[in-house]
Amino acid sequence: MLNYSRQSIDNKEIKAVIKTLKSDFLTQGPKVDEFEKRLKKYCSSKFATCVNSATSALHIACVSLGLKKNDILWTVPNTFVASANCGLYCGAQIDLVDINQKDFNIDINLLERKLEVSKKKNRLPKILVVVHLGGEPCNLKKIYELKKKYKFSVIEDASHALGSKYYGYKIGSCKYSDLAVFSFHPVKNITTGEGGAILTNNKLIDYKCKILRTHGIEKNLKKLKTKIKAVFYYEQQLLGYNYRMNDIEASIGIEQIKKLDFFTKRKILKANYYINNFDINIFSLRKLNKDCLNSYHLFILSIKKNINQKTYTKIFNEIRARGIGINLHYFPIHKQPFFKKMFRNNKFKISENYSKQSFSIPLYHDISKKQQDYIIKNITQIVKKNI
Ligand SMILES: *Cc1c(COP(=O)(O)O)cnc(C)c1O
Repeated sequence: MLNYSRQSIDNKEIKAVIKTLKSDFLTQGPKVDEFEKRLKKYCSSKFATCVNSATSALHIACVSLGLKKNDILWTVPNTFVASANCGLYCGAQIDLVDINQKDFNIDINLLERKLEVSKKKNRLPKILVVVHLGGEPCNLKKIYELKKKYKFSVIEDASHALGSKYYGYKIGSCKYSDLAVFSFHPVKNITTGEGGAILTNNKLIDYKCKILRTHGIEKNLKKLKTKIKAVFYYEQQLLGYNYRMNDIEASIGIEQIKKLDFFTKRKILKANYYINNFDINIFSLRKLNKDCLNSYHLFILSIKKNINQKTYTKIFNEIRARGIGINLHYFPIHKQPFFKKMFRNNKFKISENYSKQSFSIPLYHDISKKQQDYIIKNITQIVKKNI
């Protein structure tokens, strides 16, 4: 099966892991420090905190921004459930803003209107989580304007977008947000096995995230609240978690980030091959922002003709049966059984249509022309036959 995405590991990572296994540190140690240094340097942010997943990163990001019971967090329906769950972990309420038809990222006009209405009702969000779907940056400049006007915090769920650029700025530079979160799950742009990170330019957010990932414990003698200043003494100052990344994972990440630009360059080439070879009478492609760089975590293909759920499912299963591991990113959050009761009377039309017109097809830096031709030929054949 050609999965829609997969990791790329070679001897460099294997050697690095062995070296770490023979070292003094297995849990968080010098390799985590080094990986954080490389991440912030790569993204040009001031701070980076590595954790054990993007889900953990989103959670402590919300805590660090002060999200509490009865606060409100907004995100989009078309994202991984973790973008919303982070709010629920803090006892906040979730609301959604639909995506737009052009690039399938958050619809800025809908966002603006919803903010106006919510201000009148005194129901403004404390946090907005935006998602750079498949690596294509959202309209961050407009989001930043709205953030200033309505005074909410912005988390970039950049799980798909390490390596992407927004008007010359790397995603993760946090020029237009409070912080950005990355995932290092094996399907993402680089991997550590499991892992995540929080990037920010805000010293206080960074400080909080660093102690929240390790039980809320402070060990820096200068920052202790009591008079005991002995090396054995530590203080729990916040309710934190064990969300640490370990040095084994970080040593994989260090090798991976060295290859990131190579992966991205190659994926763009392969994506352009799809763009030039899929029949645009049958399929439509996202409208990408020419002033941005999409690191192509996903290659998203949409069927032009309106089809129903049943036909979509049939097409999906037939493509899978030919060994092409397409996937849907995403089944809308408000349609998930767990979230259904919160959104009983809500419709998010574009996300709902997306989930029966679009799917992600295999894309890796080393996918061969032969594999891509097989994918193009078979998907086209199956879709033609069914529409
Ligand atoms: C993968 C992903 C996550 C969760 O990442 P983990 O590292 O698996 O916790 C969160 N949000 C989005 C948009 C993702 O794609």
